[in-house]
Amino acid sequence: MNVVNDNTCSWINDLVPRANIKTLQSNEDCEWLIIGAGYTGLSAARKLAQLYPDQKIIIVDAQLAGEGASSRNSGYLVDTTLNDGFTSNKELESYKKKADIYELGINTVKKFISDYQVDCDWNECGKYFASSKVEDKKILSNFSETLFKLGFEHNLLSKIELSERLGTSFYNTALHTKGGILLHPGKLVRAMIDVLPNNVILFENSCLLNWNKKNNIISCKFQNGKINSKKIIFATNGFLKSLGIKPNYNFPITLTASMTRSLTDNEYDLIGKPKEWGVLPVRPMGATIRMTKDRRILIRNTAELHNPFKMTKSDLNKRSIYQKIGIKKRFPHLPHDVVQSSWSGIVSRTRNSSQIFEKIANNIFAVGCYNGSGIGVGTLFGEQIAIKASNENTKEIETIEARNKPKWLPPQPFLNFGIKTRLFYERLRARSEI
Ligand SMILES: Cc1cc2nc3c(=O)[nH]c(=O)nc-3n(C[C@H](O)[C@H](O)[C@H](O)COP(=O)(O)OP(=O)(O)OC[C@H]3O[C@@H](n4cnc5c(N)ncnc54)[C@H](O)[C@@H]3O)c2cc1C
Repeated sequence: MNVVNDNTCSWINDLVPRANIKTLQSNEDCEWLIIGAGYTGLSAARKLAQLYPDQKIIIVDAQLAGEGASSRNSGYLVDTTLNDGFTSNKELESYKKKADIYELGINTVKKFISDYQVDCDWNECGKYFASSKVEDKKILSNFSETLFKLGFEHNLLSKIELSERLGTSFYNTALHTKGGILLHPGKLVRAMIDVLPNNVILFENSCLLNWNKKNNIISCKFQNGKINSKKIIFATNGFLKSLGIKPNYNFPITLTASMTRSLTDNEYDLIGKPKEWGVLPVRPMGATIRMTKDRRILIRNTAELHNPFKMTKSDLNKRSIYQKIGIKKRFPHLPHDVVQSSWSGIVSRTRNSSQIFEKIANNIFAVGCYNGSGIGVGTLFGEQIAIKASNENTKEIETIEARNKPKWLPPQPFLNFGIKTRLFYERLRARSEI
């Protein structure tokens, strides 16, 4: 089945369309093959090209490179998270292991943008965890203790401070972390495509249909050609399971988001001209909402089990209604038609929110499952899996491998039943926060 995406993502449509798109139309042999050209796959390709300047490296994507979740996300490069949806952060030690990985992720992206002088609207403005529910102060003060113990700078905010900073009086309580960066996800991934070295060949709109390994060669079949490779890295994130990669450890979740047009001077004045900000929900299924530097409002407030290969226009329209409601609740004076576009994207989850970073068989590697932290962690894991596949070790790999491993998932139909029940429960708990 092919991956079919909407063409309505604002982040993608902000960019000049790319030219010289190559589709696989022949049979190829290579030393290295990477499947999936998002942050992860592109970072793996970049690293391999540095390590092996004389070897042939191919990276393939089912759609246009970077136009999966890597362009469709909310643009929070996170240092800390409050909710992972399927587990709690009770254990300080495991929280620290997770935060160590986030820190490495931020450093990897920072180095990338500094090495290649990338403009991706980088803003080190931190982020808010906010709720309209006064009783959520308790969750935030517990979280504050965790952050305090681990040395993360942060502060708790009152309703008045919040409405001044955000331009909405919707929220009653919040915690602001100093760490965390807001950026333009589409610009970041575009830069990763633009800087691919010459020994990397990129094939796009070329979906891997099936693969097998025989006599130490991995054979991959695409619609119009075949690639035989000595080593392969699967970096398809939400589509790992559909390629048979660790199917009992990961599953895809579909998210939808919407973006408004830029607010007019008048609309912007009315909300007190706030600086760029980003809010993450205190309750797992609440809305992620962001004011961009060019005064657009982005909202993401759905997460569901859905066919990851396609969302029809009418299905997308239904979901964008939730986002219009979410914006209206926070900014009631904005007109009904202020939302300019809506889109969907696929993330990958594991039962305990741990990521996949592994050699799954000789010369076969898999990487993914970052939930809402793939900007940093995907970039880090892409580079590091390339090093691991070269039989090298780094302190980053040691940190990555020190985390808890993904937990086994129950078989169908129990899995889908469990996920749906959990999502339903979380949605109910967060119904005031969408
Ligand atoms: C709405 C939304 C909001 C999010 N918000 C944030 C956020 O604020 N911060 C954050 O850090 N993360 C966020 N995320 C998650 C983040 O976008 C992902 O974790 C990240 O993009 C993963 O990067 P990746 O390269 O591993 O995967 P992807 O970007 O998904 O790339 C995988 C690629 O594999 C390709 N592929 C799939 N199957 C095949 C096949 N058979 N053959 C060839 N190619 C194939 C796909 O076309 C895709 O381009 C969000 C995601 C969404 C959808």
